[in-house]
Amino acid sequence: MIRQVYPDRWFAWTIAVIFIIFLVTWGAVERYSIELDAANDGVATAILTSTESQISSESESTRNIKPTFGIQRTLVVLVNSSYLVSHNLRLISKERARDAVFNRTNAFISENSYGKTSMKGRVVGPYFIDTNDPEIDNSKIFELAAKDVDLLKYDRVIVFSSVSSRSTVGKQKFTTPDGEAYFSIMYNDYTDDVGYPLSHEFGHSLGMMHTGFLRCDMRNTRANDCQISSEAAGPFDPMGVGTGHYTAAYKDLIGWFSPQQAIIAKNNGIYRLEPLETNSNGPKTIKVPLGDNLYYYLEYRQPYDGVLLYVSPKHISGWGGGSEVHLFNPRGQTELELITTHTLKVGETFTDSNGIKISVVKANSVRASVSVRFLKQ
Ligand SMILES: [Zn+2]
Repeated sequence: MIRQVYPDRWFAWTIAVIFIIFLVTWGAVERYSIELDAANDGVATAILTSTESQISSESESTRNIKPTFGIQRTLVVLVNSSYLVSHNLRLISKERARDAVFNRTNAFISENSYGKTSMKGRVVGPYFIDTNDPEIDNSKIFELAAKDVDLLKYDRVIVFSSVSSRSTVGKQKFTTPDGEAYFSIMYNDYTDDVGYPLSHEFGHSLGMMHTGFLRCDMRNTRANDCQISSEAAGPFDPMGVGTGHYTAAYKDLIGWFSPQQAIIAKNNGIYRLEPLETNSNGPKTIKVPLGDNLYYYLEYRQPYDGVLLYVSPKHISGWGGGSEVHLFNPRGQTELELITTHTLKVGETFTDSNGIKISVVKANSVRASVSVRFLKQ
């Protein structure tokens, strides 16, 4: 029978070779999908953003957020191209790029980190690449910039070009003409459209993912149970759709809080909370432990008249790599509505299914007082 189906030996060998090629290819695809799954678990991290496509990034045993302190040596690269010229799009000038990064974004980062992190560096270019493709390979950009600078001397690379806005999540290794470099790379629009886009993508460069909104009623759900989050939906901070400070949870994960600024509420008590924006060594967040290294992060923003509750660090995959920090509504609303309905106001109490009771006792322009009680203690 077999001889009838495979009359010649060469035919059998051909089948065998095709089968081996199939196995090898299938193995590679499988491996790739495992890597993506790992990224979704937050074990290895992926990247993302505005169009937010995926770029692979370093894999680590922990999340990609690392403490980031001190001066970030930052290289800004301007890349003009035939694509921009033929579409009548004007690349940002050197002066405006310098202002956008080293004045405005630097001020934002410095303020958010309470002076713990800042950016210093230079702007190179504009270089010209003769291509009608808006996407430009990293290696092309490194090749051009390496003519003017030593790429190994930078922690952050920021590119203004036709490439759509996105960033690596944290730093990763790159092969450059100067050798193996380790930095974050973030792409910005060619224009001087700064503010939200720069603080969002730079947040990714620092290792932050998106701020989502938990779409389940946390009064009746344990925080670990909820797996539904609207991606990049946080209305207050740049990792969502806001323009205020990064959330307290991300600041904590990035190491910007001193022990006095991030208080862990282990016992029943009244805890003081200062506005997140105030540059002082007072408490900027209260972390209420939920077990499994998960916390409610309480933060108090100005000019809002109540306290916000977030759940973190909890990776829920989604657009642009997903979210690690999630706002939720203490009233149990599962849709984002008016943002003022998301604060827990003076006199209001939130009780969750873990038996944790959080009440806002007082709130004025300088502080809020919050009562935390563990009913099952
Ligand atoms: Zn993003």
